[in-house]
Amino acid sequence: MSTPRTTTKTTTSTSRPPVKAPSTTAQASLYQQLRAHLAVLKLTDAAEHLPAVLDAATAEGLTVTAALERLLGIEVAATEARRLASRLRFACLPTPATLEDFDYDAQPDVDPRLIADLATGRYLESATNVLMIGSPGVGKTHLAVGLARKAAETGYRTYVTTAADLAARCHRAAIEGRWATTMRFYAGPTLLVIDELGYLPLPAEGASALFQVIAQRYTKTSTIVTTNRPITSWGEVLGDTTVAAALLDRLLHRSVVLDIGGDSYRLRDHHARTHTLRAAATHV
Ligand code: ADP
Ligand code: MG
Repeated sequence: MSTPRTTTKTTTSTSRPPVKAPSTTAQASLYQQLRAHLAVLKLTDAAEHLPAVLDAATAEGLTVTAALERLLGIEVAATEARRLASRLRFACLPTPATLEDFDYDAQPDVDPRLIADLATGRYLESATNVLMIGSPGVGKTHLAVGLARKAAETGYRTYVTTAADLAARCHRAAIEGRWATTMRFYAGPTLLVIDELGYLPLPAEGASALFQVIAQRYTKTSTIVTTNRPITSWGEVLGDTTVAAALLDRLLHRSVVLDIGGDSYRLRDHHARTHTLRAAATHV
């Protein structure tokens, strides 16, 4: 780091009086240089908090190490928050559901220990897939979105879509000559959630796109698939028993299957409300 030099030893006092920069000026210039360094390095949060940290350093008598740690700690926290926000934006979570607000008492078929284990993200390290099967309203999307949120929070690149959206996007990509790019896009996330397989019939081309996505992720990255149809009817869902068998082979090779029975949570709620209304009505 260079400091401004206003005089040299050869300058005589007769031509110009020796100028000793006041320490405050020297400090101001050092401060400006430090800010400039932070700006060049794009450490904007550290730059913004520099005055406060320097004030604190003086006021609290911080060591240089402690002051530097505080300044860079601010930058690291801000960077992590930005990265998390960007991962959550990218994930396209369709609902605010979290694992914490899943009511296990209402859904005895879901083992809280299994979800707690999945929440650690260990399955992502071994590219294990998760298949959730159950009727509408039993909490499949809730759990899948909760796991996706957890994965994004842990630091994994995550993306949530539906089988119908995936098929439609691949269809457009094929028409517009972006097939390879789109396949790379679906290969990218460490966790891909494909929700609602089986609600809408997939066209043959859609089934083949889904197969390719699952096949290229196989053994490398995890996929969560949710469906309302038992795997025995996937031949129908995908319009081709051979494609269905090949897809299931890859999906289930290393997987956790959650077979969720029970009532629809939505309808439970609805029944409870109707019951309360009816009870209220009969008491009036
Ligand atoms: P599915 O995807 O199986 O059709 P959802 O996950 O969309 O069902 O659940 C329907 C609604 O009920 C959602 O609002 C979800 O948050 C809620 N829900 C379902 N099961 C539970 C549960 N066990 N605890 C809390 N909310 C639940
Ligand atoms: Mg759903």
